[in-house]
Amino acid sequence: MIDKKKKRLFGTNGVRGVVGEDMTPALVLRIGLALGSMSEGTIALGRDTRTSGEALLAALASGVMGAGCNVVDVGILPTPALQYLVQEHFSGGAMITASHNPPEYNGVKTIDADGTEMADERILPLEEMVFSGSFREVPWDRVGNRTLAPHLLQEYIDAVVRQFPLGAGQGMTVVVDPGSGPAALSTPQILGKMGCRVYTINGQLDGTFPGRMPEPSPEGLAPLADLVLDTGSAFGVAHDGDADRAVFIDNTGQYLEENAEFALVVDHICGREKGVLVTPVSTSRQVEEVAGRNGCSVDYTPVGSIYVARRMRELISNGMKVVFGGEGNGGLIYPRHQFCRDGGMTAAMMVHLLTASGKTLSSLAAALPQYFMIKDKLRVQDPQAVVTRVSEAFSSDTLDFTDGVRILRKDCWALVRASGTEPLLRIIVESRSRNETDSLYREITEITARPA
Ligand code: MG
Repeated sequence: MIDKKKKRLFGTNGVRGVVGEDMTPALVLRIGLALGSMSEGTIALGRDTRTSGEALLAALASGVMGAGCNVVDVGILPTPALQYLVQEHFSGGAMITASHNPPEYNGVKTIDADGTEMADERILPLEEMVFSGSFREVPWDRVGNRTLAPHLLQEYIDAVVRQFPLGAGQGMTVVVDPGSGPAALSTPQILGKMGCRVYTINGQLDGTFPGRMPEPSPEGLAPLADLVLDTGSAFGVAHDGDADRAVFIDNTGQYLEENAEFALVVDHICGREKGVLVTPVSTSRQVEEVAGRNGCSVDYTPVGSIYVARRMRELISNGMKVVFGGEGNGGLIYPRHQFCRDGGMTAAMMVHLLTASGKTLSSLAAALPQYFMIKDKLRVQDPQAVVTRVSEAFSSDTLDFTDGVRILRKDCWALVRASGTEPLLRIIVESRSRNETDSLYREITEITARPA
């Protein structure tokens, strides 16, 4: 059963808003004061390349210090790099980022001492304090100080490179598209250290995102695809605005669907290690099938990377072997490295995977089991009520309520769930044939379209 708690300010991935409207230095100052009040010791802060990042980071730092904690300001870096550094050195962290959102957005992602995104159990009291204003504001002799530490990013780069055999990318040419985001400082270096010849596009840090928007869409990546072809590269890799996700262009210039990317990495990892794979109920069956034929099982969670990361930890503490986790959007979690989505690590994994297989990315993708998926979102007044109606209409099917309702049939499945942040109904339908997918999709939309 779903254990998502009602939050007022924080969504699945932190607080986000439009700068100058609902996201302001005044709000971020309060978040900093609350975070500092709930913490002891030193908090690491970082940001992506957005134009509002410097102002919001200063406000956040000010609040944390005012509540008596010290701040280490790592500056511009990917979210997973900050998470790695927090896990290694600090008692907590916070990242100023709006991930894949357009440039006018920004936000705050809070990070626990273990490097994972802060869980609801701590977010709820933090929110409460932001609203109530009952901060621990300390006297003059206990106000925290701030240290600048941009050099710490190197530790993350080295930690990723260490996960792979020396020279794993020797002889391989690749293209990196950080989208003018923080991975411009890390992914080219990671792949270079693995021995790859690296070309970069959109490699300048720029919060106006002149080359493409922070969401790595197939349209925005057309110049990357051209460069992959022009340079004869093995692949092109692109990140979202804070580089916890990585998506790929194959050697023929084709966009690799993110579930296929996930399935390829699963095939590689599960071919070497046996255990459990953790992923949300929204992920393609392609992933489950590939895990299963490699002797690994799948454990499903509600939608949201934090639920995946926490579940991985929970299973491990129960004595289970967890080999991998991730979402079908290019956000993959490598438990041997750290318990958060890591785009730089995924780029490095692709190099290793291709070298180990001796095949091209396009041929590996073509060999995957094929599925047909429809993803849709519908604007409805009361999404929760529609989910209930769908559950009732499909009560003779096998249903799963991990998140919304999942309808499970022999060769096809569907997920209908309410969005956590908007009055939206999200629908995913998948099967092995286009006809079957279309027909289940029609069955569902007949119910959702019916007036309440
Ligand atoms: Mg992101």
